[in-house]
Amino acid sequence: MLPWLQPFPSDPVLVAAGIAGFAALGSFLGAAQARLGAAIDGEGTYAGRSFRGGRSICPSCGTTLVVRDLVPVVSWLALGQRCRHCGAAIPADYAAIEAGSALAFLLALWLGGPWITVVARGILGAVLVALVVVDLRRQLLPDALTLPLLPLGLLEAWLVGGDLPAAVAGIAFGGGLLWLVQVLYRRLRGREGLGIGDVKLMAAGGAWVGPAGVGPVLLIAATATLAAAGIAYLLGRGPGLTTRIAFGPGLALGIFAMALAF
Ligand SMILES: [Zn+2]
Repeated sequence: MLPWLQPFPSDPVLVAAGIAGFAALGSFLGAAQARLGAAIDGEGTYAGRSFRGGRSICPSCGTTLVVRDLVPVVSWLALGQRCRHCGAAIPADYAAIEAGSALAFLLALWLGGPWITVVARGILGAVLVALVVVDLRRQLLPDALTLPLLPLGLLEAWLVGGDLPAAVAGIAFGGGLLWLVQVLYRRLRGREGLGIGDVKLMAAGGAWVGPAGVGPVLLIAATATLAAAGIAYLLGRGPGLTTRIAFGPGLALGIFAMALAF
């Protein structure tokens, strides 16, 4: 058996290392989505900074954070959800991405398969959680987060002997379909209904779910988005009919669910 087709070891030490590694990946992605979002928005402390370069800083006072500020989830809880230097509230975004990233790994591990699939699905879930946060906050899906999911999906399909042509067809079908919807909506209604980021995310997701998975992904996405809008409406915080509703979170949910199913 090819070494990367072995199952993920059930050794508790390696599983714990996996959880810690994915929580750390979540930390990196939390900083990445904040910096990318602010850079695209052209505002905030992170504006203009590359998300690769530089140490992590407090988004409020700009103090460089040290290791004890950066233990995933634990630091956030231990510090009372506040910056140790300036006392500014630290949003739950970072801890949510760290926890979501570790949970994605655990879910992938529980479903089994070659370890390369478990790790790839964990990374997919971690990036999708970061995308959910940045789309909810800023109505943005940065290319630097969406586009790498496309080659990752192709690579996973290729390495585990999956259906590579289906993955390519999924990219074309998923991306093409949403691109068509985006263009038609703009023509008919004269405004943006769907962001180009959603189109790119669906194209990348197509690599994971194949052409047969695109329909179910969109069904899950539409159902989840409408349900969330309905709940928001009932809570009196509802979007108006012309408010742009973030579609990314629904798409992310659909892509992850169908990627695990295929
Ligand atoms: Zn601070």
